[in-house]
Amino acid sequence: MLYRTLGKTGYRVSSLGFGLMRLPDIQGGMRRDLPADPVKTRDLVARAVALGINYFDTAYPYHQKTSETVLGMALEDLGIRKDCVIATKLPSASMKTPERWDAIFSEQLQKLRTDHVDVYLVHNLNRVRWADFQRNGGLDFLSRLKREGRIGAAGFSLHDETDIFRSVLDGYDWDVCQIQFNYLDIKLQAGLAGYEYAAAKGVPVISMETLKGGMLACTPPASVQAIWDNPILPHRTPAEWALRWVLDHKGIAVALSGMGHENELIANAACADHTPGSLSEQERLAIDKARQIYQSMYRIQCTGCAYCMPCPRGVTIPYLFRLYNNYKLFNETHWAKIQYGQALANGMAFPSCIGCGQCARQCPQGLAIPALLHDIHEELRQLLPA
Ligand code: SF4
Ligand code: SF4
Repeated sequence: MLYRTLGKTGYRVSSLGFGLMRLPDIQGGMRRDLPADPVKTRDLVARAVALGINYFDTAYPYHQKTSETVLGMALEDLGIRKDCVIATKLPSASMKTPERWDAIFSEQLQKLRTDHVDVYLVHNLNRVRWADFQRNGGLDFLSRLKREGRIGAAGFSLHDETDIFRSVLDGYDWDVCQIQFNYLDIKLQAGLAGYEYAAAKGVPVISMETLKGGMLACTPPASVQAIWDNPILPHRTPAEWALRWVLDHKGIAVALSGMGHENELIANAACADHTPGSLSEQERLAIDKARQIYQSMYRIQCTGCAYCMPCPRGVTIPYLFRLYNNYKLFNETHWAKIQYGQALANGMAFPSCIGCGQCARQCPQGLAIPALLHDIHEELRQLLPA
């Protein structure tokens, strides 16, 4: 495990960070809209630390507001709080209610079983929330928390366009920023241009959606696999190619990955020996080629962030999009048939949608969710028996 310095904060952080939004859930699955399992999370945290990971990224709403709690329990139980860097977030839903911020922060400290948060990020800023946050004194709030020693570093996460990213970055003396960054999405949201802007300003970047919600770790289509199989290239898994591309960027302080299995921790940690700038020209060209192929095939730009959830009618939006993308991209007809059939039977697919639009208003990717659900339904129901 290599460690990088988190800009002017001086924190030495593992180049691989543990994102706690895809944890084992209390029903034995991996659903983000269910509470996290505290015992399995403790075991994962212990394994992560043994592998050298010291950066843990959680947030107020993750896993029905239990992610912070299970992390706090794990760190206390293992007696390793002082050895770890905790990043958590001021919830985006609170931008218009500054009177709640102190209470939310106190609740977070309590859940995390700590007296301070190392990295405190304003969650999921966009154009509107940034305006609300500034107008309501959010920057003074962050400065006060820093002065009082209750946070070590102030930052933000963002899923909006590059111009908004630039204006947020220029609007405060941020310690860190967190953006979606992976080899596929270089022109999506802040993208590569946003990364370069932050790097030029010396603001360390934390990457999220590093493996694009796990999609870049899946078995790739044959045309992409053929690139990875080129004998002049080192033998690597798809996830390793994706992680190493992110870690190759000098301005990346931490590459986050949401990991819910021990084998993911082990595999990802094995890539965290990557030194920035060490990809060869051939390796970079291979990744460029893979990107071109994926982009020609990718249907729905859903990252699985679950901001659209919960749907009041029980439609499992990210699950359906993931199912559909895998079906299209990885030719998973067998699973698409089974899983979509189950989703329909359980009332979790398009026929349950009432078109309220609540989901689309929350989507950082700007997806027209109800229309997409309709189109998916029209296509996937053809796979099912009449
Ligand atoms: S538009 Fe449909 S899928 Fe979206 S929140 Fe409303 S009912 Fe759920
Ligand atoms: S549809 Fe949008 S909000 Fe919902 S999981 Fe996908 S990217 Fe996130």
